[in-house]
Amino acid sequence: MSSTSESPAVEQTAELVECAWRAPGRVNLIGEHTDYNEGFCLPMAIPQGCTATVSPLAEPVLEIISVQREAPVELALDELAPGALAEEDQWAGYAAGVAWALRERGHQVPGLSITVDGDVPSGAGLSSSAALECSVAGALNDHLGLGLEPSELVAVARQAENDFVGAPTGGMDQLASIFGERGRVLLCDMRTLAVEPVPFDLEAAGLTLLVIDTKAPHQLTDGPYGERREACAQAARLLGVPALRDLSLEELSDAMDRLSDETLRKRARHVITENDRTLACADLLRTGQLRQIGPLLTASHASMRDDFEITVPEVDLAVEVLLAFGAFGARMTGGGFGGCVIGLMEPAQARAASLAVVAAFAGRDYPEPVSFTVTAAVGAHRLD
Ligand code: ADP
Ligand code: MG
Repeated sequence: MSSTSESPAVEQTAELVECAWRAPGRVNLIGEHTDYNEGFCLPMAIPQGCTATVSPLAEPVLEIISVQREAPVELALDELAPGALAEEDQWAGYAAGVAWALRERGHQVPGLSITVDGDVPSGAGLSSSAALECSVAGALNDHLGLGLEPSELVAVARQAENDFVGAPTGGMDQLASIFGERGRVLLCDMRTLAVEPVPFDLEAAGLTLLVIDTKAPHQLTDGPYGERREACAQAARLLGVPALRDLSLEELSDAMDRLSDETLRKRARHVITENDRTLACADLLRTGQLRQIGPLLTASHASMRDDFEITVPEVDLAVEVLLAFGAFGARMTGGGFGGCVIGLMEPAQARAASLAVVAAFAGRDYPEPVSFTVTAAVGAHRLD
């Protein structure tokens, strides 16, 4: 932030103590709602992200500014706790929650001004929330000289989202934002939090990954997301395993026989088959077979639509149109109930396919979707 002082010496000091980090959003290639089942997912960081700039304040307050919001939010440090923010200021909780999580871990948090500026579409399933949290976590870690490891930044960012904001998300987004690598997707084991970068060089394979933001908004803080989590936990309990991750595809039919409730059967089937598809997808990518993952992506969508029941008509339509226009595979990405669809295709097809989705949406009076292509991008880093 620039100083208003007339003195060049003071201005220089202000610049020196300022610290900025950039953290990306993510596209999850496959492995949806597997994270809180301690299973596998395959996200990649995307070029869109959030930049957080931190500078000191003399007063014991957090000042949180977003370039994407009109009014700044101010919170006294002695009031920094979950539930402290008014309804209209909830967005600032993703930043304040990081400061709170650091303090919970015993770190001193002084008065700070935090400015965020993001270009991940918000609430579209591309994780603008993790981009915000991780950029703030990185900037605070550096600014306060805490020396936290990347895995600790992941934990702090996740604690902010789960316990301060109150969104019971499973941790994939923060892993992807912190550990993202250019040209690679990340095979994440959500039990051990081990991350294996797997080559995903779209350009070399003559492919593109088209993202359609359907503009059908999703909501992760209440309702259906929590219900899915609870159903999975209940199915695991009834099947006598710590988490659905512990059941392989070979055990699927036995598990189906043992669950009497049809809804629980469908929820468990999605998770068990999705874990298998995710591992199969990583296997194909390790040997450079990018096109061949297409059917796995499409099968994942069918499973989210029919078994996990987290899609909406807009995303189902976008997937259908992309497949009709030659995509090798297409699926909804992110937590669901709206949000984005991805399609793996040849670059020459992308324009016609996105125009076709726009036309199909217009025909049904849905809001106009927005499309763009993404590549696997670098993870959270300091800006010098
Ligand atoms: P997603 O992570 O898929 O974009 P979420 O509902 O998890 O969706 O997070 C979106 C929320 O994150 C927004 O409603 C807002 O509160 C907050 N947010 C994200 N980016 C920004 C930003 N640049 N400025 C202010 N708030 C933001
Ligand atoms: Mg989010």
